[in-house]
Amino acid sequence: MDNCIFCRIVRGEIPSKKVYEDELVFAFHDIQPQRPTHILVIPKRHIASLAQVTPEDEPVLGRMLSVAQQLARDNGSADGFRAIINTGRVGGQEVAHLHMHIVGGPDPVGPMLKKI
Ligand code: AMP
Ligand code: ZN
Repeated sequence: MDNCIFCRIVRGEIPSKKVYEDELVFAFHDIQPQRPTHILVIPKRHIASLAQVTPEDEPVLGRMLSVAQQLARDNGSADGFRAIINTGRVGGQEVAHLHMHIVGGPDPVGPMLKKI
């Protein structure tokens, strides 16, 4: 996806504060952190949202979840975190490349449904 902002971050065309990368996923600090820890984990391959995934995407979806604990610990959220995937218009998704927010820090993140 030529113009997708997160595809461009994966390709290094737009700078990001990268915290992790492997063959399937890429993770970086959110540009407008809502909590002391606020990391985005994305598939390297363009997937528009959770509403577009297929069984073929299960390896990358699993990887996004399995790397979360270490990313949270390494980035200031040692005692738990919240993982959020906003999806589509109703979910309040603003960037049309699937991404999981990992939010946390030393203190509880707060009410469940507050928009991150
Ligand atoms: P969502 O509302 O779930 O689509 O979240 C999109 C997130 O992407 C927001 O938290 C933005 O702050 C973040 N974001 C947008 N552009 C960038 C960027 N260039 N680098 C890092 N984070 C970004
Ligand atoms: Zn993309």
